[in-house]
Amino acid sequence: MASAPRFKRVLLKLSGEALMGDLEYGTDPAQIERIAAQVKEVRQHGVEVAVVVGAGNIYRGLEGAAEGMDRATADYMGMLATVLNALTLQDALEKVGVDTRVLSAMAVTEVAEPYIRRRAIRHLEKGRTIIFAAGTGNPFFTTDTAAALRALEIHAEAILMAKNGVEGVLDADPSVNPDAKLLPEISHRQAIERGLRVMDSTALSLCMDNDLPIYVFNMADERNIDRIVRGERVGTLVSSETASNSDGAAPKPGEPAGTTP
Ligand code: UDP
Repeated sequence: MASAPRFKRVLLKLSGEALMGDLEYGTDPAQIERIAAQVKEVRQHGVEVAVVVGAGNIYRGLEGAAEGMDRATADYMGMLATVLNALTLQDALEKVGVDTRVLSAMAVTEVAEPYIRRRAIRHLEKGRTIIFAAGTGNPFFTTDTAAALRALEIHAEAILMAKNGVEGVLDADPSVNPDAKLLPEISHRQAIERGLRVMDSTALSLCMDNDLPIYVFNMADERNIDRIVRGERVGTLVSSETASNSDGAAPKPGEPAGTTP
């Protein structure tokens, strides 16, 4: 028989890339459907799910700024792009019968509720899946920081950080070093000091300061979200120093192992 979920409430961070599948740009309907099915599955196991969506598949403020646009304006455009992704995901979730609310940090009242922390928690308690749109509502931040912030605000027990095509956190950039290896476990501090790409440093610091674990996993394996909420070790666990190995090395014999190939 399947084991009981380990978490009661989690926050799933979906970057824009995670919605893109194999496309170069935009959203892949088949990929969104797969994500919706996975969220549905964990909901059916009684786990409350909040989602933060990014927008790298549509627009990134930094790209606009690089082309000479005012950074704050470009960032607001990026935040608006996350609203598009949030509505796409809401539509897919509703199609598979998952009751969903979009809560936006920017006013778009025709399509989403404003973000109100207590309301978000209430939705979760009522079994609704919530999607946080428009990041933190502030330019110069990212949706990774929004994920850390909202997870803390709603008392999520962990952030599930979906990656596109990588198994978790690697010890080097695979495009530079083809021998880069997966780190099954690492502390927030080590990830910051070694410049490992878990999430951006503002977001990572927020998680470190507040002892919030991050599970970094490959979105391509459709069993991964369910595995993580059941307590199976998949990809990389980024947690506080006391809980993790001091050198980010593989677990010792007898300890649960990562499930990467
Ligand atoms: N953004 C922002 N403030 C936030 C969150 C996002 O200004 O709190 C903007 C920023 O321009 C960013 C864009 O929205 O580039 C899309 O978010 P992000 O790059 O985090 O998306 P992801 O990489 O997760 O797809």
